[in-house]
Order: sequence, then C-alpha cells, then structure tokens
Amino acid sequence: MSQRDNLSKKNKRAVGGSSAEGRGSSVKKDAFERSPGRSGKKFSVNQKERYVKKVKTFSGETGISAEEWNMPVAVSVETGEQLKTVLGEKAVSRIYIDEACFGIPGKDAAGNSGKGKAGEHETEALAKIIREIHEAGKEAGLRLRRIERDTDPGLDSMSLLSGLIKLDASPDMLLIRTFDEAMMLSDLETSETGNKGLNHIRKIFDYTCYGYNTEAVSMLKELGAEGLTYPIELNFKECLNLRKAVKELSDKVLSEIPYEMLVYGHLPMMVSANCIRKTSAGCDHKNRFMVLRDRMQKDMPVRCYCKYCYNQIFNAEPLVLYDLPEDVRSLEPECLRYDFSVETGSEIRKILAGAIPKDITRGHFRHGVE
Ligand SMILES: [Zn+2]
Repeated sequence: MSQRDNLSKKNKRAVGGSSAEGRGSSVKKDAFERSPGRSGKKFSVNQKERYVKKVKTFSGETGISAEEWNMPVAVSVETGEQLKTVLGEKAVSRIYIDEACFGIPGKDAAGNSGKGKAGEHETEALAKIIREIHEAGKEAGLRLRRIERDTDPGLDSMSLLSGLIKLDASPDMLLIRTFDEAMMLSDLETSETGNKGLNHIRKIFDYTCYGYNTEAVSMLKELGAEGLTYPIELNFKECLNLRKAVKELSDKVLSEIPYEMLVYGHLPMMVSANCIRKTSAGCDHKNRFMVLRDRMQKDMPVRCYCKYCYNQIFNAEPLVLYDLPEDVRSLEPECLRYDFSVETGSEIRKILAGAIPKDITRGHFRHGVE
C-alpha cells in the first residue's frame, strides 16, 4: 500500500489508460528488454544484472515446498521457459497458460496478423501446449486476457476456445479475469460449438473478479463461477470470515464452492490499456518485460502483452505466503497457486522448493496483525 501511495504526483499520469490496481510511474528511459533472443543486445549489462539480481536474491530461509503442501498445486506461466520448467515439476498438478503469452499469431500472405491461416496457427499452437500439459499428466488451464478489444489482432477469446474445442484440445479449466469474458463464455457454452454445454470447461474466477462477501460470491456464481480465488485485498482474518460465511450459505453449490489461493506471485499494481511502448519507442507487438522506476527507486516489472497490446505493471516484490502454512491451511483452499511472471526457470524451481526471495511482500494478508 505504502508503495502505491509513495509514487510522486509527477509520475502518476506518465502511464495513461485504465487503472484498476493503482498508479503508474515514469518510464525508465533505459529500460531493458528481456524477450528471448534479444536480451543484452540493446542495453548495458549492468542494467540487466541489477534487475535480474533483485528477483534472483533469496533470503536463505525456506517455507513449505510445493510437494510438502500435500494438496493440489497450480501454477500460471507466461513464458516458454517457465512452461518447460513446470512441466517437469512433479508437485504441480495444474498449469495455466496465459492466452496473451502463447500462440502468438503469425501473419497471412497479405501481412495481416492472425487472419485466415495465421489464426489457425494460433489455435494449433495453443492446442499443442495443452496436449503437452496433458501428456505430462497435469490439468491444463487457460488464463484469459485481462483486456479484450474488438481491435485485438488474432482471434478473440471465444473463437480461440471454439477452435480448441474443434481440435479436441479443450483446456480443463479457464481462469477468468473479467466479467466480459464470463458473459461471452456463457454464450459460447449454449452454442453449437459448445455442444450446448457438453464440452464443459470448468470456470474459475481469478482474484480480479472481486468476491468480498456472500452477495458478491453468489453473483459470481450466477455468472458461472465454479471456483473462486481468494481476494488479494482481504487480510487473513477477512478471508477466514468470508470462507465461514460462504460455508454457511443454504445453497449447497455455493457453500461448497472451491477456492484457489495465491501463495506466490508479483501482484499487478495496474493494468493499462495504453501500451507503454506505443507511447515511447513504438510498439512492434512483441511480448516483453520492461522496468518502471518509481521515486523511491523501486524497479517495478512491466509486462507488455503486446500480442494484444496491453500492459500490466507488477509490484517490485512478490507476494509470498508459502511460509505461513497454518494460516493458508486454515482457509481450506482446494488448490494453491503460484503465479509466475518475471521468473526464470531456475528461480521457479527454487520457489517451488520453498526458497524465499529476499525482498517480499505479504500484500494485505498480514494487515491488522500485531
Ligand atoms: Zn504494444
């Protein structure tokens, strides 16, 4: 919270667009790129090392490893390296791939992205990954984009899903992050492609679909939620009260609704429909990471999802709750989740083994705790 408040007024308007989680800060002029095959080419090694080091430093303390939890562990991944790493992790039972990060559409003969054959390639590329996850004996989830516009290149989420169903490579579940996606999905389910509900894909709502109280939770169920994620804005006590209140509801489907719980991940501070690259160097529609520095000299990772040209600014420190097993278990989650965004493969292995990064945040979880 303090970090958000500490951002200078001067910086607040540097990044335009919608602001769901907080405020932006100024674009660091010499922000480096970390897209595969390009790293280190354009920018000085120092800048790269400084950023990577921040993420890579571990405290020496350990929490609970993914295996030790003895309950289902889900991960979300955004890069091919991350995917490759978690495919080999025995303790991981569910992998969410981000729609904005995989199956980047190619161009057709006329140079239009995602049209015709190129659109088919996008679906095929995602189908291949989903099959790979299944072959590794894990559940495959698809995390839908946070901002969907009619002007997005490539296929819209629902056409992509229809394509996957036709290829017999449906994901087992969707991680839904906006109400628009939830509503579009109910249309798809009752359509011919959705076989009028026969091709059922489980709908899990992410923490971006707020369900702070029983009224909100029951509305999320109306929208099709079959699983929820604990809200990241609630502290431990509030999560506990929410769980208790939901369990006491007379509607059995609602009272038994399973929860996923985030125990690791850089939380988004802001999602921006405006592309930072478009307003600075110019956007080439390639996904990459950049860095924003606030006036407290904190470097915040920015993920440019330029497959669809929207950006997400992450907190400099990741949320870590996997060293608080008693609190986590008392919330009775069905599944724990590790959200990976900026991490390398070896960092992921360390985190899943329980290693704790040096700089972490508890988010709101510990607020109000003496
Ligand atoms: Zn862009």
